[in-house]
This record gives sequence, C-alpha cells and structure tokens, in this order.
Amino acid sequence: MSINIKKKCSICTEYVLLEKDDVIYDKSYMHFNCYVQDKFNKKRNKLSIEQIKENSRIIQKENEHHVQQRILSEKFYIWLQKSYGIVVIPQYFFTKISSVVSGEYKGLSVGIPLENIFDMWQRKKQELDKIALNNIRKGNNIDSVGRLSYDLAVLIGKYDSYLKWKNQQIAMADNVVKEGKEQKIDFSKINKTIELQKQADLNNISDLLDEVF
Ligand SMILES: [Zn+2]
Repeated sequence: MSINIKKKCSICTEYVLLEKDDVIYDKSYMHFNCYVQDKFNKKRNKLSIEQIKENSRIIQKENEHHVQQRILSEKFYIWLQKSYGIVVIPQYFFTKISSVVSGEYKGLSVGIPLENIFDMWQRKKQELDKIALNNIRKGNNIDSVGRLSYDLAVLIGKYDSYLKWKNQQIAMADNVVKEGKEQKIDFSKINKTIELQKQADLNNISDLLDEVF
C-alpha cells in the first residue's frame, strides 16, 4: 500500500512527506531544513548552522517514534476505510483504539501496540468477513461502522493466540538464521570438495595426457 502520508510544514506551509522527506517533529511537523533555518534566523541565536543542525538531529531522533506512530496510524485508518468501505471513521472508534493501545479497554490487562492491532486485523480480515456473513445469515446485520467495533472485540479475544503465533514465527525465523550459519560452514566444506575434485580432474587430465602421449 503506497500512500503519501503528508502534513503541512508549520514553517513553509508546504507539504512534508512523513516517509520520504527529512522530517522533524517538535510539537508540529516540519521539514528538517526549514526547522534549522528557522532556529538560525531567530534574533537571539548565537549558534552556527552546524551546531543547530547537530542539536536538531538529536531532537529529530528523540521524536522519531512519534512520527513512526503517526505513519502507522494513518496507514491503519486508511486501510480500514478501504477494507470496510467507510468514508468517515467515527471519533468514538479512534477513542476506542487508543484505549486498547493504552490498556484501558475493558477486560485488557496490558495494552496492545497499534502495530499488532493492524497486523492482526489484516491477517484475520477474511475470517472476520466470514463471521460477518454468518451474522447476516442469522439475521444479525451489523453495518460497516458497527462492524469496526465488533471486529475489534473479536480480535482482542484472539490476541493471546496471535502473540503465541507471532512468537513461533520469531523462533522459526531464528532457526532459519541459525541454519543459514550452519550452511555457511557446509559451503566451505563443499568448496574444499570442489577444490579437491578440480585437482582430481587435473590429475585425471594429466593421466589422460600421459596415456595419449
Ligand atoms: Zn517546510
């Protein structure tokens, strides 16, 4: 899904692309260069442009998580809009999602990171559609907006099994990495074998040549 997530730079008022541009967040979104220039132009500024750049990089790094979360949530909501055919997602749903992330949602003991909610939702979408079809068959027709909350509740119920599955994936990925390392050792053995074979072939050739001549 390629969407340009953009915000207006609070200095130049042009768009700043959160994923592509050199963006800095410091209470608002700005182009890094606009931010540096703005600080440099301040009347009381005594720092060199290099010093300002250096300081700004630190602030940029400190607030990187904020930008990443912003990108993630925008992608998540755009995906929901498209997948459920909803033009406007109601405010109460955003509030609900934040309560899930913070762990305040009823029945939750810990918060669920937005990243996991989004990932789980994408993976389970087909299953959720089946549940919805079943509900319709039973005469229980929930509209798209209602389904957001309904599906979220279903997903929260599956969170423990999702975590188990995810940990298994991580363990499997670790094994692949380990096997890869072992294979490297094998490769060196294979290389040696090939080397020996080449020498053997050469010996054979010289044997042959001995026979011919
Ligand atoms: Zn700008």
